[in-house]
Amino acid sequence: MRAELEGRALPSGRPLQLALHIDGVRLSSFPLHHSRTRRRVRERVPRRVRAPVPAPLDDPWVCVEEVPGQLGLFAPWPRSFTREHGRRLRGRRHIAGLPRLLAVLQEMAAERGVGETWMFHTGDCARLALASRPPDEDLVRPEALVDLPQMRPTLLEALDRAGLLARWRPRLVPSWMSRGPGSCRECLAWTNEREQRCALCLSWGMDRSPRPCHRCGRVLPLRDDHCRRCVLFLSETQYDLDGVALAGGDQLWFGGPFAPHLRVDHDRAGEPDGLYGWRRLQAKRRAAIQTSRAARLVSPHLALPGQLDLFPLARDWSRVDDRRLPALTPSAQEVLDGFVAHIRERGWRRRALSTSIRTLRVLVAHLGAEAPLREEDVRLLARRHDFNGARVVNYLRVTGRLLPDRRSDAASARARRLADTAPQPFRAAVHRWIDVLSGQATRPSVPLAPTTVCAYVRRVSPCLRAWYEAGIGDLRAVTGEHVREALKALKGEEAKALATPLRSLFRALKREKLIFRDPTRSIVLSGIRKLPVPLPDDHLHGVLDQLPGTRNQLSFVLAAVHALSTHDQRGLLLDDVDRSQGRLTVRRPGRLHHTVYLDDVTFRLLTRWLTERHRRWPTTTNPHLLVTALTATDDSHPQVNPQAITKALRRLGLQITRLRVDRILDEAKHTRDPLHLIRLFGLSPITAMKYLRAAHPAGTRPDPISE
Ligand SMILES: [Zn+2]
Ligand SMILES: [Zn+2]
Repeated sequence: MRAELEGRALPSGRPLQLALHIDGVRLSSFPLHHSRTRRRVRERVPRRVRAPVPAPLDDPWVCVEEVPGQLGLFAPWPRSFTREHGRRLRGRRHIAGLPRLLAVLQEMAAERGVGETWMFHTGDCARLALASRPPDEDLVRPEALVDLPQMRPTLLEALDRAGLLARWRPRLVPSWMSRGPGSCRECLAWTNEREQRCALCLSWGMDRSPRPCHRCGRVLPLRDDHCRRCVLFLSETQYDLDGVALAGGDQLWFGGPFAPHLRVDHDRAGEPDGLYGWRRLQAKRRAAIQTSRAARLVSPHLALPGQLDLFPLARDWSRVDDRRLPALTPSAQEVLDGFVAHIRERGWRRRALSTSIRTLRVLVAHLGAEAPLREEDVRLLARRHDFNGARVVNYLRVTGRLLPDRRSDAASARARRLADTAPQPFRAAVHRWIDVLSGQATRPSVPLAPTTVCAYVRRVSPCLRAWYEAGIGDLRAVTGEHVREALKALKGEEAKALATPLRSLFRALKREKLIFRDPTRSIVLSGIRKLPVPLPDDHLHGVLDQLPGTRNQLSFVLAAVHALSTHDQRGLLLDDVDRSQGRLTVRRPGRLHHTVYLDDVTFRLLTRWLTERHRRWPTTTNPHLLVTALTATDDSHPQVNPQAITKALRRLGLQITRLRVDRILDEAKHTRDPLHLIRLFGLSPITAMKYLRAAHPAGTRPDPISE
């Protein structure tokens, strides 16, 4: 207020309550803390009321101390202690093991957070338990603890911890209990009959001689060294879902119509039947397996989509224990179910493919099915005994869950390795050339087969090394003269075999703008043209009968009669066969389709092959006409291997190419019309003229455009 009156600026902040200052009136500075203190009245117990604490008693009549070594006249009689007995023992000294037991009880009291009263009662019981031991026995028998008035489980645990507890003794059944009406003498089941053995035990003992049982020791008829009761008990408790197994004793059961038995009953349909017996034990086993499976954890190594490798490393699948698999995730289970359904759909037997199913199960259990699986992993796992990967790879590829293996292409790897061994200045250029050849360069190009790429690099390598040794340090320094020099030493086909890859190398480098000009542009090779040669006349005699298998015979006829090459035959599709019209269409990429008109022999062989193909692989989805056992079951629908066509013929000294050439040449001998050859065999005009010239050397003019 004063500041306001004087016109001064007030400091910022909260407004404060002002206080009056009057003599005799004082405000508390901490009103919230102000409270009245309550006076505590200490209650005192009058001296006369407090009596001296009575000394602990020792009543010698409770648990009479027996003389060590003295034999009892009777077996120890069951006692029943009360809390009063415990009180009367408090003064007894020299109870062996008592200090140890009391120390353990103190420990337990601290653990449980209980107080004096608990110690008081357990201490009494501890004294009783130790004092009631028979003479000469240090350990307390667990079955004797039932005599105690209270705290039996606690004492059991304390004695066990203190090492004062004897082992449980098996429950003994006194002989008088198993005799007379009631229980069966052998299986101890309650039958309530006067018979000493129940009907089931009687039939059990029919053809078995009594010997001591390995488990219970009684002399009874045995199977697998066990009496009937023990066999039943063991099979009941093998998967103890119901908690039948007891510590120190066996569960008894009813006899008569409710008795458990192992016999397999069959109903009219021949199915196992009955409340007890085989089916129930099987169900228990299944339930136990399901429980243990459900308790399994999911693999900690699940691969997630988009997860990157820190560094590439091949997994060692040989150390995986396939009996203890991690639990399957729902998506992994889905993949596995899909694979099994796929197997059924294709008509394959599931049992025959159990190795493939196992492979996929191990893979998805450990890696999950969220991310695509690596082909390398499938192949590594399939190397193990009883594992199979081919079908798994196919299925994963078809469903788009496969990460194809880049390293599986041996030819590409070899080409790269050759490039690495090239002279240092040329290395990068050769690698770039391989990129261009395999279609991975900066600009798109048609990739060559990896084997061709590898062959090109292999042929060029010695030449590059020679140039390097001659002092050329860069491919830009190579001139046409160098190339001509390298080719001069070679002749004919060999020169051509080097010239082609060299030309490819420099064209690729020019295209990639690594060199300025192509030194091979001006190189022209003079070559000799080989004319087609016919086969000897008697060569084909009786070949058809010697060839094993319909497919080989068909291949032979297609080559020898219709001049189809191995490549043509591999590419034939089922849809290309038109049996009603007697025609076969041959697809040749980049050219017109060629139609083959089937003759009688070919038609018959084709029909026989189609029948055999359908009989052997009724569910195959491979669209090719020629299939083998391998390609018929392969879902990636590959063509047959060229070896499959040529192998049987080569055993007879025949080649498909020679057969084809011989056939065309034979036809050319009977005609001078190139159009006829073109129409009949689907040849190009140049090839047709080549055959005509070979067939009629005298009658044709030299080719004006031939080199
Ligand atoms: Zn019995
Ligand atoms: Zn037994």
